[in-house]
Formats: sequence, C-alpha cells, structure tokens
Amino acid sequence: MIAKNLNNINTQIAAAAQKSGRDRAEIKLVAVSKRFPVETIIEACKAGQFLFGENYIQEVTQKKPEAPENACIHFIGNLQSNKAKIAAELCDMVQTVDREKLGKALNKHCITLNKTLDVLVQVNIGNDPNKSGVDKEKAAELIRKLNALSNLKVCGLMTIPPLSNTPEESRVYFRDLRLLLEDLTEQGLFSSCIKPELSMGMSGDFHVAIEEGATIIRVGTAIFGQRLT
Ligand SMILES: *Cc1c(COP(=O)(O)O)cnc(C)c1O
Repeated sequence: MIAKNLNNINTQIAAAAQKSGRDRAEIKLVAVSKRFPVETIIEACKAGQFLFGENYIQEVTQKKPEAPENACIHFIGNLQSNKAKIAAELCDMVQTVDREKLGKALNKHCITLNKTLDVLVQVNIGNDPNKSGVDKEKAAELIRKLNALSNLKVCGLMTIPPLSNTPEESRVYFRDLRLLLEDLTEQGLFSSCIKPELSMGMSGDFHVAIEEGATIIRVGTAIFGQRLT
C-alpha cells in the first residue's frame, strides 16, 4: 500500500512540476511518518523513500535507532529548547526554527557534536493565532541573528498555512512565502545556500504548493493513511 501510494504521489509531483515548467529534481518529498511505527519507515525505505518528517521528539528518539541507516529525518513539529539536543543529534534538518532562543540551543549542541545543522525558519504566513512561526515582518531580523550562529545553516523558509477547505485557498499563502523568500534572498540573507528551500504543501494541497515554487513538500496521510491519534 505504501509503495503504491508513494508511486502515486511521485506521479502527481512530476505532473505538477511539468504543469508549472519546473524541474522535478528540485522538489523533495518529505514523508511525514508521525504517529506511525518505525516499521512504516522501513517499508517506505524499501519502496525507495528515504526522507521522513517527524513532529515529536520522543518519536524521533524511538524510531531513529531502528530505522535504516540511510533514512533522514526532518523535524517539522514545535520544538522546545530543552529538547534541542536530541533534534541536533538525530535530525538532518529542523524546519521549525521560529525564535532565536531555539536557534541558540540547537547551535550550542551542534558545537558540542561538531556538526553543522541545516535549519529552515518557520513563518506564520497567514498571521494565524493558532499557528507557530515568526511573523513575516520579523523574519529578516530573525534570520540575521541565526546567520550569526556558527553551526547552523539557514537554508530557507517553511510554513503551514491556515486551515482551508480547498487547496486553491492555500495558493495565496504559498505565493506570499515565495515572494518573502525572494525578497530575503535579494537581501543576501541566504548567502550560504546555493538555492534556498521553500517547504510548503501537505497531502491536500502539495500540487498547488509546487505550482507556487515549493522545493520541499511534506506529505503524511496521502502516503501512510489516516493517523490514529
Ligand atoms: C502532519 C504534518 C504534515 C502532513 O500532513 P498530511 O495532511 O497528513 O499530509 C505536514 N507538515 C506538518 C508540519 C505536519 O505537522
């Protein structure tokens, strides 16, 4: 089932890329395995999917040691600074940095671990009071502070748009995030990356996100099915 779903999603990614005249190779699929056991990750790896998204630190701690060695984990949930050590150690990217305090905590542990960590800045693009993320007006200031941290590499932006009933409703938010990325790139804030990343789009709206420039999409339900909790 997972293999079939992955195949289906990959076909849809290719179609959305083609529709918008983009190169399929510049779009990464993060398979969101939160609330599913490590066996799910193992099965997805057998089907050729090696990049996963997790929201909860305790699940990262449980699954990472049991997962195939070449499985990469992006942390995509709210991260408390006191859990930064585990994320720094076990994750290949933290997509949800939205405050300097968290950046500093991650950086401190990366120094100890002698590693560089890729991070994205989470932006609350819809000014949704229920969502985390830095305000779009404050993103530049935060990125400047994060760029000063020796062992973090700020690679781009991530967002979760306000809940919508149709994928088209998300389009304006995806477009806003892309325009923000372009603006910040022009300001030289992503000078350490060759091409800054835009992480946006989930099961219901990833095709729209790709049309608006997503380079990372995060898809859970459409690959693994409904989560039980
Ligand atoms: C759960 C989650 C996803 C995946 O959502 P689906 O609708 O299941 O595809 C993507 N991004 C984040 C930040 C999530 O928490």
